[in-house]
This record gives sequence, C-alpha cells and structure tokens, in this order.
Amino acid sequence: MDNYQDESYYEKFITSSKDQDEERFVSSSKTMDDAQIENVLRPKTMDDYVGQTKVKENLMVYISAAKKRNEALDHVLLYGPPGLGKTTLSAIIANEMGVSLKQTSGPAIEKPYDLASILTNLSENDVLFIDEIHRLNHSIEEVLYPAMEDHAIDYIIGSGPGAKSMRIPLANFTLVGATTKAGMISSPLRDRFGVICKLELYSPKELSQIVMRSAKILGAEIDKESANLIASRCRGTPRIANRILKRVRDFADVLNDGKITTKITLHALEKMDIDSIGLDAVDRKMLVTMIENFKGKPVGLDTLGAVTGEEPDTIEDVYEPYLMQIGFIARTPRGRIPLEPAYTHLGYKIEDIVK
Ligand code: ADP
Repeated sequence: MDNYQDESYYEKFITSSKDQDEERFVSSSKTMDDAQIENVLRPKTMDDYVGQTKVKENLMVYISAAKKRNEALDHVLLYGPPGLGKTTLSAIIANEMGVSLKQTSGPAIEKPYDLASILTNLSENDVLFIDEIHRLNHSIEEVLYPAMEDHAIDYIIGSGPGAKSMRIPLANFTLVGATTKAGMISSPLRDRFGVICKLELYSPKELSQIVMRSAKILGAEIDKESANLIASRCRGTPRIANRILKRVRDFADVLNDGKITTKITLHALEKMDIDSIGLDAVDRKMLVTMIENFKGKPVGLDTLGAVTGEEPDTIEDVYEPYLMQIGFIARTPRGRIPLEPAYTHLGYKIEDIVK
C-alpha cells in the first residue's frame, strides 16, 4: 500500500504536461524534431483547436454539463490516425475542465501495479490520458474496469486460501484513451467509455488555417497561397503540416530572408520529395510495387512492409488512411489493391497492367 504513494515510483510512468513530448513513446510517425515544436504549437483551448467541429461541439456540451454538476467528465475514447490531435485534445479537455492532466501510454504501463499507482495518485476530476490504449495488456485492463466504473481498485493482500481482496477508493476521474486502432480495443474496455470520438483527416481549408496559426506562433512570414500549398500536401494531417512548415521556413531563412513564398514552398517541397498531392517516396514505392510487381492484384500488409522497409503497422496507420481517403487504394479481404487514380497519378494505364 505504501508503494502506491511512493512519488519516485509513480513518476516513472507519468510525465508532466511540460516534459511529455520529450519522453512520450515516439511513434514512427513522430520525430524528435516534431516533439520540439509540438509543445509550442499545440492549441490550448477548444477555440484554438481547428476543425473536428462535431467532436468539439459535442465535447463542449459534455464538458459544460459536467462542470455545471461539478462532476468528472465521462470517460472519452479518441481514435484516428496519428498526428490528428488526440493528445492535443486530451490536454484541452483537462484545460477546459479546469483540472490537472496526467499522461501516460499503453506500452509504458507494464504491470497492474503500475496502473494502480497512477490511479491512486489522481485528484478529484483529474484527466488521465492513456495514449495507445490498445496496447494495454489484459491484466492491466482488469484494473481499469472497476476504476472506470466504480472509481475503485481491488487490491489482493496475501496469496492462496488466505488471500483477501481489499477495495481502494479512487478520486472521480476522467480517462481519455487514444488509439490509432479502435478495432484492437477489447469490447469490455470500449463499452466503459461514455464518449467515443472519431477524428477525421482535416480539409485543406482547415489545414491552411493551422499552417497560418503555426507560422504566426513561430514568427514566420507566410502568404496565404503558400499556406494553401502546404495544406494541400500534408495528407490531411496537422502534424505533417507543421513539419513541412518548419522545413519550408528553413529554406526561406537561407534563401529568402525568412519570407515564405510559393516559390520557396515549391522548392522546399521538391527537395523533400513531396509530390503534388502530398505523396512521399514511401507512398510512391508502395504504389509502384503494387502496380508493377503485383499487377494490381491484392497484396498483404507484411509484403508491403518488406518492400518499403516500413513496419506493417506503420503502413496501416500512417500511409494507408490517406491513400484510401484519396481513392488510391482499397482494402479487400485478400489484401490491398491499387485503384485507377493511383495508376493515372503515377503515369500508368490500368488497362496495360491489369489483364
Ligand atoms: P495525435 O495525438 O493524434 O498523434 P497530436 O495531438 O500530438 O496528435 O497533434 C500533433 C500536432 O498537430 C500538435 O502538436 C498540434 O500542433 C497539431 N494539431 C493537431 N490537431 C490540431 C488542431 N485541431 N488545430 C491545430 N493544431 C493541431
């Protein structure tokens, strides 16, 4: 029991909002470079959070209602591809609720005891953010169930026939879980979330707004056309928009006294090997392989991973959502197939390939 209050033990699993980006599990889609600027660029309030209108409007109603009743917000599950603003939204929820945020991730919690230690250190109405919640193992999920439902954890003292179960009450808290793989969350866990929100890829207009906002924060001079250009090449993802902006700013600093113009932006995009619709070398390699080697027949994720040198998971979470959204590939029960727009974009004629 004493261990539950041991701060140094507890700190292993939790990072404060301040150092969270440096220490958080770095997914393949997120580089250390991103981490440095993400804290600066993260919107802090719902008003600042661009897009995802439906999710925002609903959350604001639930937040206002919870505040009115002086209760913790119901548990929230956020899902969608990486870089769409799940972590950002969890911090905004805590901020709008006026409570503290504790952040951790599925892979960081190795034993039930680790989670118990985090939970017993939460204060009334706090928000606990668990990123990659689909990676929690089953024994840890079992601790989460009574915590989410009854605000308590069951603690077993001793072992064998003399073992006793003791219920430890917890503060009312809100669990915000984030995942790129909603399908991998067990149904008992999913059922315990009162609010489930799917984050969508952003429209070019929203992304342009995000780029203008980020440029302002970074003190970079940018015109609307350049922001639109970045917005049209970032695969619907704010993290990528900010990443491209940062690189374009480097080119502008070196070549154009810091002024971001369309000429500089196009030059930087070309140097970064990002094409007219935002595809990079990996996307193209993947599509060319599907077309040339497999002649448009279904290809499994593992094969695509081996060909591109990316983890199958990365293909599924990072590359595939955008390629599917723009109608370049489709999922079939036997694997992924390229669609006609992909052939055309890469200069092939589908009738020459698919016999
Ligand atoms: P996720 O947790 O879904 O991987 P993050 O919350 O870490 O994504 O978002 C990545 C970055 O993208 C943030 O640092 C933030 O600057 C930017 N971002 C995400 N969503 C928005 C948004 N709706 N408005 C403005 N910026 C956003």
